[in-house]
Amino acid sequence: MSESTVRIGLVLPDVMGTYGDGGNALVLRQRLRLRGYDAEVVEITLADPVPESLDIYTLGGAEDSAQRLATRHLQRYPGLQQAAAKGAPVLAICAAIQVLGQWYETSSGERVDGVGMIDVTTAPRTERAIGEVTTTPMLAELTAALTGFENHRGGTKLGGAATGLARITRGVGNGVGDGLEGVVQGSVIGTYMHGPALARNPELADLLLARALGVAELAPLAMPEVEQLRRERLRA
Ligand code: GLN
Repeated sequence: MSESTVRIGLVLPDVMGTYGDGGNALVLRQRLRLRGYDAEVVEITLADPVPESLDIYTLGGAEDSAQRLATRHLQRYPGLQQAAAKGAPVLAICAAIQVLGQWYETSSGERVDGVGMIDVTTAPRTERAIGEVTTTPMLAELTAALTGFENHRGGTKLGGAATGLARITRGVGNGVGDGLEGVVQGSVIGTYMHGPALARNPELADLLLARALGVAELAPLAMPEVEQLRRERLRA
């Protein structure tokens, strides 16, 4: 690994790996390599402190019990918080939104303090949200619909310091009646979309990578399979 290697932190895949969201780290690595960058995925497990020196971080979804273990670990080793404060992009999927927030309530009604990186709170909805999601992005850099698959019980309310990632056109999203999906605050982008989200939304992958590399934008990659998948999902 050279000094110029882009290092992608896959945070706690041992507990936040239930829904295949580790694929987001692989997508980031592959899109970098296809453009000639050296890139590595650094897995940070419950056995490791969280380094603050990586270039970009991703966290996946998890069941309630697993997300509690993750919360405790991130509180104990605040490397992610320090990296985000320095501007390193962080992609948080589903349970990870809840973990990085102020607090979340589990389906059994227990309130757990979150990491406090983003101004959101999460409480259980009466019904689980499961199915395809399609949204219109609210970030100026994104032009294409964001799509994914959601599977969560939590409903997430945004506080004043956070904004939505997108507006729901199909599916539930944050699930508190404001029509929003996901969250943006500082260098953190969160979404309820599995898929993995970056395999289904290359524009979002490249936005995160451009920020990690400190460049204005990256030239798109021609990937017909990805476009085919997007068309199928938008029609489905
Ligand atoms: N346990 C959380 C919920 O049900 C998150 C689930 C997930 O990450 N898919 O809201």
